[in-house]
Amino acid sequence: MECYLGCKVALATMHGKERAIARPFRSLLGLEFELPRGLDTDQLGSFDGRVPRTLGAEQACLHKARLGMETLGLPLGLASEGSFGPHPGMPFLAAGLEVMVFLDQERGLEIWERLIARRTNFNHRCAGELAELEGWLTQVGFPAHGLIVRPEHPCRGAETLLFKDLPDHQQLNGAIAAAAAASSNGRAQVETDMRAHRNPTRMESLRVLATRLASRIASACPSCGAQGWGRLDVVPGLPCIWCGMPTTLTKRERFGCVSCSHTEEHPRPDGLTEADPQHCPLCNP
Ligand SMILES: [Zn+2]
Ligand SMILES: [Zn+2]
Repeated sequence: MECYLGCKVALATMHGKERAIARPFRSLLGLEFELPRGLDTDQLGSFDGRVPRTLGAEQACLHKARLGMETLGLPLGLASEGSFGPHPGMPFLAAGLEVMVFLDQERGLEIWERLIARRTNFNHRCAGELAELEGWLTQVGFPAHGLIVRPEHPCRGAETLLFKDLPDHQQLNGAIAAAAAASSNGRAQVETDMRAHRNPTRMESLRVLATRLASRIASACPSCGAQGWGRLDVVPGLPCIWCGMPTTLTKRERFGCVSCSHTEEHPRPDGLTEADPQHCPLCNP
């Protein structure tokens, strides 16, 4: 894809995401990044909860991309946004939803890619002292992954007390003690820091997402030639190998264009044309 070779794109981030994002955009599209220095993307909502996010993840992402473009006066913009919580299909598991958007003002393109990250360390615990958290700290990957500490039930005047960027167990210990002392129940709330630069697992998700988005941008619509051709959704109904009943498994993938209305259906990329009876509502009810 030659059309973006050497072009500059505004990346609105203040959390070092460019380390995860830049490479696929450079190698697949020849795009160069510019970072709007001094832009406070936390004004749109921050992970530590100090600024509540009022927009949905996708609206916040769009807003951020536009803000970067305006700040730098560039017609190309890129931004990403993550949200974390229970997995939509498996509520007992944590999952992350990462969205990323590329905007091309001159061509009028808005190209999205989304990723449900099943691998996330998103979690929190309450503790009176560090010793209670020993196994958990390994599980959430501290200190390679950051933690945020605050009083569980803040005493009057301690509502905004918060510790982050704690480099080691000693400083974490101090933060827990201080937060516990400022809590009416003597306990600190310790949560995983989901800011990209303090969360290598999230950085890895962003790398995967950036590669997908760059590949999508590099794909041209077979009908109108616009960038951003890619998979829209999947069509279920792969027939059972025993009885031929449609199952919930993907039968075909639907591809579409962001610029015109052209769509195409393609067979599964793994070539599978029949489903194992274990997925069949008739053979395995
Ligand atoms: Zn069957
Ligand atoms: Zn098209």
